[in-house]
Amino acid sequence: MSRRITPLQELLLRSQQSIVYSGSAAYILYALLTSVIDPPGSFPVAYQIPKYWAALCALATIVAVASAPHRLKQVYLTTTIAYVVVALVEVPRAVASGELPLHLALWLTLNVLVSFVVFGARQGAVLNAASLCALLGVLLAHGPLAATPLADWVTAAIVMGVTGLGAFILMTFIENNLLQHEQDSEKLRAARQDAVTDVYGRGAIEEELQYAMEHAQRINSPMSIIVTDIDHFKLVNDQHGHAFGDDVLRAVGKRLRRNVGGIGGMVGRWGGEEFIVVLPGVAKPDALVLAERLRREIGDTPLAGLPVTASFGVSSYRGTGDTPDQLFGRADMAMYEAKRAGRNAVR
Ligand code: GH3
Ligand code: MG
Ligand code: MG
Repeated sequence: MSRRITPLQELLLRSQQSIVYSGSAAYILYALLTSVIDPPGSFPVAYQIPKYWAALCALATIVAVASAPHRLKQVYLTTTIAYVVVALVEVPRAVASGELPLHLALWLTLNVLVSFVVFGARQGAVLNAASLCALLGVLLAHGPLAATPLADWVTAAIVMGVTGLGAFILMTFIENNLLQHEQDSEKLRAARQDAVTDVYGRGAIEEELQYAMEHAQRINSPMSIIVTDIDHFKLVNDQHGHAFGDDVLRAVGKRLRRNVGGIGGMVGRWGGEEFIVVLPGVAKPDALVLAERLRREIGDTPLAGLPVTASFGVSSYRGTGDTPDQLFGRADMAMYEAKRAGRNAVR
């Protein structure tokens, strides 16, 4: 089975993109505003200070993520490495000047948060630990520090460490819950699906039928069902084998679904080679037209290479007091009338 992106994964992906966009945009804004408040001097020399390199990185990140959103991780890994390189250049200058640039510490802390969201708990921890080691290494290599800046650097390191730990715990929690939720919905989906075909199983379609009838009563709208049974299916099994019979069942399920999915119809396997189509909002005349179309869809072109026909029975909701059993009973009776009339028919 092909691996689809679940809605939750898509949501996570979109939040990752948003946080990268907003983090990068915030940095560009910061670089612009501070250059207005505190002009850097003449072009181009002044613009070689690391702040502007980092702002360029941020701009490149936005462009790269916008043009290749599926490469988010690769792009942001490059960005992070670039930021760390910029910081590594900045550290010796800061040490020489005898003070800790507050903006550097704050932006690095923000990047810890963003990178955990983008890379997840484990990769985020590895990446941030590596970045922190590199920064500490350069810091130690350019020491010794006077007491005041040392206290500032230690504070910055602790804040970054605590931020990282918090982000790690949060991401671990989110990932575990995401995984659990995905496993649960996969189980639920499997439980509601028929084992052979790709349509609702008996229990699930009974629930849908019940729900559709309640809904029809509540909003006073029509609803119909179509019951269909493959003609002479025993012969298919006898002549071509049970596995081939299963292929035919799957093909029937697929054709039914393809033709009713667009109008909100639901297809279920009632049992054996009998299917039911639940049609919320559809009145009897339209349901009969649809059943006739389904009959032709199945009978006019071979299924799994074999000509197969089916008989159809239609019934519609009669208002308060009508039950799913009665509704189904009427459609089933109509379907047997179609069988008696020679099969490959709609009643
Ligand atoms: P009719 O036109 O009157 O419906 O004739 P029929 O042969 O289709 O009806 P009958 O009820 O005699 O046979 C149904 C067959 O469906 C018998 C059973 O072996 C087969 N069947 C039921 N479930 C499955 C299944 O899951 N896979 C396969 N391959 N066959 C199944
Ligand atoms: Mg049959
Ligand atoms: Mg049958």
